[in-house]
Amino acid sequence: MTRLWNEPADFADEMVDGFVRANGRWVRKVHGGVSRSTQSAGAEVAVVIGGGSGHYPAFAGLVGPGLAHGAAMGNLFASPSAHQVESVVRASEQGEGVLLSYGNYAGDVLHFTEAQETVRKDGIDCRTVTVTDDIFSAKPNEREKRRGIAGDLTVFKAAGAAAASGYSIDDVERVAMLANARTRSMGVAFTGCTLPGADEPLFTVPEGRMAIGLGIHGEPGIDETDIPTADGLAELFATRLLDAAEIPEGVTVDGARVVPVLNGLGSVKSEELFVVFTRIADLLEERGITLVDPQVGEFCTSFDMAGVSLTLFWVDDELETLWNAPTDTPAFRSGSFDTSALEIVDRNDDDEADVAIPKASDDSRRAAARIAAALDAARVTIDENADELGHIDSIAGDGDHGIGMQRGSRAAATEAAAVVEKGAGAQTLLSRAADAWSDRAGGTSGALWGVILRTIGDKFDDAEPVSAEAVSAGITAAKDAVMSYGKAAVGDKTMVDALVPFADTLAERVSSGAALADAWAAATLVAQEAAAKTADLMPRMGRARAHGEKALGVTDPGAISLAMIADTVGGILRGNERFSETEDVRRRME
Ligand code: ADP
Ligand code: MG
Repeated sequence: MTRLWNEPADFADEMVDGFVRANGRWVRKVHGGVSRSTQSAGAEVAVVIGGGSGHYPAFAGLVGPGLAHGAAMGNLFASPSAHQVESVVRASEQGEGVLLSYGNYAGDVLHFTEAQETVRKDGIDCRTVTVTDDIFSAKPNEREKRRGIAGDLTVFKAAGAAAASGYSIDDVERVAMLANARTRSMGVAFTGCTLPGADEPLFTVPEGRMAIGLGIHGEPGIDETDIPTADGLAELFATRLLDAAEIPEGVTVDGARVVPVLNGLGSVKSEELFVVFTRIADLLEERGITLVDPQVGEFCTSFDMAGVSLTLFWVDDELETLWNAPTDTPAFRSGSFDTSALEIVDRNDDDEADVAIPKASDDSRRAAARIAAALDAARVTIDENADELGHIDSIAGDGDHGIGMQRGSRAAATEAAAVVEKGAGAQTLLSRAADAWSDRAGGTSGALWGVILRTIGDKFDDAEPVSAEAVSAGITAAKDAVMSYGKAAVGDKTMVDALVPFADTLAERVSSGAALADAWAAATLVAQEAAAKTADLMPRMGRARAHGEKALGVTDPGAISLAMIADTVGGILRGNERFSETEDVRRRME
């Protein structure tokens, strides 16, 4: 249970503020996260890490000399947006290249990759190594599909130490890949985690039972047993992690050197971890393994989840030297870091300059006001259905689709209303609403909704009125962009299953001369049917993939929310707005 908060929706922002106030020696706040408040004497490769919040000390607690240079901080359990990652990269990079490293989750991959592409256009040599240490999230022959859990620490540490010792970007990337290839983890849990203000945990484990192999966002486990003794848990960890299939390439167990990281996931006591650790140490040593600098504590948590994970980092000489190199961060310190050569950076780049709104024609401004009304209507619909969307997502996903959509649609509606006031045209409005949505929502769907709004807006401009043809072309382009960005096809059980028939029907009706509102209504019906039919599909993309059978019989939350929004926007197109604030805005415009 989480007990202390003000407004649950403000929790993540207030947490970042407090973290920065408490740790100014190491970090300063920048848009989208934190960057170091110190600079080394010479320029070095910048290591930028990140992910959703709720995993402290991952990720911001690992920013400081010898480790990361910046951390992009998303909302609770939601990836940071591309825009946020980009801003942290720009605040942290020093001209020697940037390594992005983060746990392998679909939402994080989408946003970090988009940021990487953007900064590369400006000549920044940006590379990526995702962490894939969780042995239960995919089979050994599909290691690149595995998700990242507490093994983040070993990869970040190797990369950060390499950057601090002056390695080139090629070598920092090489070392991070090697560290990831030599890191394996597994986790268990006894209770779920409850996000601030939520009435219920994201998942539950029956009293007296232990879930095995579950994720750090409440993704369900793959197995369940009675809670073992501390020694019994140590034995389970050792059996699974020392299984021949999990021994990294090039390693011989007898004679190997391993950094063990025994990690508490939120509400397991250090004392309990120490009791478990004795038996782990014995079991590793019995196999001829030498323990190097063992770590027992909290390194990557899952809010208040009661759970434990064990990570084995199989070092070679180079990785061991990097592991032992001095580090000085809010949450992880080792050796003694010579801070005398560091310079204090007192730049505070938190506030982005207020970007001017381009001039727009009256026609485009009128269209913008209607789009703002549509976004506000979408916000209300999502608010009304957030619990239901979260519930569907919790069956095979991580339960955050409702809150993610809520944060995104609220932010987009607020931004839209604000820029309508400032005279924005249709294209500008959609591009600003897109950034607001993906910045605030996080998650896979947040990235994709940002793509949808931005792509539609690109088919409009700030001068012309918005025609039915432009709307239809915009939705078709959005469909293509979502598929090229997220790589899902029809039948993969995602929002694409609703978006494709929606776009196709709309295009067909508009091209045969139907009025926009009629074409939209027909397309909505088809999308609603297609969304309902996702219940029969097995997921092949996103977080639900690992839990395929659980998702059978359940609709895809992203397809359902898309059909809901289509239906709501249809209401606005038919002219029956029920939303007074935006109607006022619209009336003022006309
Ligand atoms: P997350 O999966 O990061 O927790 P959400 O829960 O907000 O994000 O959204 C989940 C929805 O996103 C899924 O129901 C699905 O419709 C959609 N989705 C996930 N991955 C993809 C993808 N690769 N392409 C299109 N849609 C996707
Ligand atoms: Mg989700």
